[in-house]
Amino acid sequence: MKTRILIVEDEPAIVDNLVYALETEGFETVRSATGGEVPRLLESETIDLIILDIGLPDVNGLELCKQIRQSHSIPVIFLTARAEEVDRVVGLEIGGDDYVVKPFSPRELCARVKAVLRRTQYQPATPFSAPPLEVVDHKRCIRCFGQPLELSRYEYELLKILIARPGQVFSREHLMARVWDDPLASMDRTVDAHIKNIRKKIKAVKPAFDPIVTHRGVGYALKEIA
Ligand code: CA
Repeated sequence: MKTRILIVEDEPAIVDNLVYALETEGFETVRSATGGEVPRLLESETIDLIILDIGLPDVNGLELCKQIRQSHSIPVIFLTARAEEVDRVVGLEIGGDDYVVKPFSPRELCARVKAVLRRTQYQPATPFSAPPLEVVDHKRCIRCFGQPLELSRYEYELLKILIARPGQVFSREHLMARVWDDPLASMDRTVDAHIKNIRKKIKAVKPAFDPIVTHRGVGYALKEIA
């Protein structure tokens, strides 16, 4: 089955270029010129990745992504016309997987699409958990007390590593190397900030639950819960 990519963009010329480039690479495309119909599309169609314009006529792409993230873990690549929006995209709260600033070449975007798919389609054979935390990898979702956490890509990957081996202490360097494609070039390199966010998100689900242990000067571990 072909990988299906949903393009949410209101500028027809950009959509046409993208459709052409992606279909040339063997992807199937679905298009939507507005954000409003995206939730319905995600229910009715099988979508493997979303290319999401931030400046849509009806909704803000960032808000839409947050909304999508409440029930889906489909990877999202943002299109943005303004470099200053990038700060918000790479900010920790939105949950996007990558972004491209307009104007961009369709070829570059295809490369990003493939990279994101490679990264997100890595799946261990069996789901694993450290109750009450549970990794549902094919959905790229981590549940806490049954409730999905809204995690950014880095947060998800970090927490997944910790959950895989409760009790094991992982150094920041180790976590960086495993989660970031290119740790040195990353704009977004602080493990600590991401851990802080993960804690906040877990707390939002269960205020008294704080499963991540900081080993000062070393790194982090998931508490072993009997
Ligand atoms: Ca637009």
